[in-house]
Amino acid sequence: MDYFNYQKNKLFAEEVELEGIAGKFGTPLYLYSQRTLVEHFEKLARALKPLKPLICYSLKANGNINLGKILVKKGAGLDIVSGGELFRALKMGCPPERIVYAGVGKTVQEINSALDKKIFLFNVESVEELELINKLASKKRRKQKVALRLNPGVSFYTHKYLQTAKSESKFGLGFPEALKIFKNRREFFALSIEGVHIHLGSQIANPAPYLKALKKIVPFLDKVQGLGVKLNWLDLGGGLAASYREKEKPSTADDFARAIIPWVKKSRLKLIIEPGRFIMGNAGVLITKVLFSKKVRSKNFLIVDAGMNDLIRPALYGAYHQIIPLKKKDSGKAAFDVVGPICESGDFLGKDILLPKPESGEMLAIRGAGAYGFTLSSNYNGRRRAAEVLVSGKKARLIRQRETYQDLIRGEN
Ligand code: PLP
Repeated sequence: MDYFNYQKNKLFAEEVELEGIAGKFGTPLYLYSQRTLVEHFEKLARALKPLKPLICYSLKANGNINLGKILVKKGAGLDIVSGGELFRALKMGCPPERIVYAGVGKTVQEINSALDKKIFLFNVESVEELELINKLASKKRRKQKVALRLNPGVSFYTHKYLQTAKSESKFGLGFPEALKIFKNRREFFALSIEGVHIHLGSQIANPAPYLKALKKIVPFLDKVQGLGVKLNWLDLGGGLAASYREKEKPSTADDFARAIIPWVKKSRLKLIIEPGRFIMGNAGVLITKVLFSKKVRSKNFLIVDAGMNDLIRPALYGAYHQIIPLKKKDSGKAAFDVVGPICESGDFLGKDILLPKPESGEMLAIRGAGAYGFTLSSNYNGRRRAAEVLVSGKKARLIRQRETYQDLIRGEN
């Protein structure tokens, strides 16, 4: 579901025609639809309403402060994984009591600033991290809430880099280790260990992996509560899929809610979830201009002005994105590899994409680029990071300037 549609053969985001906007702000250009991201958030909030969950949007999907602010105003909390994301979260006006902090490698400085800001919950991934947070919190005479991130040993169908809960993964704690911590909880006198956290991975297209994990976790929670531990929070992480292919129908917020609600009720804990891609994936496109076309042997290439530095998902995961023209044409279609200007053979945005042959200067939209698009972009090959624009109804506004050449050398002299 999104609000990018053709009207009289021209691509619009909500009520804004994209070619004009791309002409005004230049390309490559990230462009987001506010209505799309808000509706995704609200669908989840509605579906899970019986549980009154804390929905912490995962900032890593797209950390632009203007986008986060919209969700925070709608009542979202934020899931962060670094001091930089804490900084962004606070700039978004997120109340600290709605911030949860995960990540396997938190530093002393990062933990201290999160303690100083009085965030709600640390999702802790190792015994050494727990000891460190305990030491730093006790120096500040604070009692800090934490949850233990469990590794439930669940795998599912997605790219291997997007799986985070297989038994050999670096994330989280094994059940026996976590049980030992709960038994020894009084040693961590500056901490209130009152929840468990999982994050199975990303682009989970149906609820089955969550059920597999819950079937392991809920009996574990019973065991922990049987020790007299007072638990409050069950954080199921993120992972819900966005749809990238036209015919792809990943499970909806309602499907997810129907599957998990009975299990969460059985756990008797309050729910936290950390969606990123589900909210933001289909809310953004990357607009790019065709520079050249050429044929090498039997292959047609379209060389465009966006590259893997702007959108690395195809190069990194072999991810598929729909690529469509901003102006529809009736001419016959041919298959093109859409490639960028970067000096790497892995620099492609799409392979064998069917398009009416675009002329140089025509523009294309790479759909599904709202999550893990701009946030994973880089300056590789001396390229400036793209501008970002937010559309709401008839209005379009710049929410991040295109970088300048001066930005490229900032801090180097
Ligand atoms: N929570 C944690 C701990 C994560 O590591 C991630 C992504 O890697 C997310 C939430 C968001 O995942 P997604 O964007 O698939 O919802």
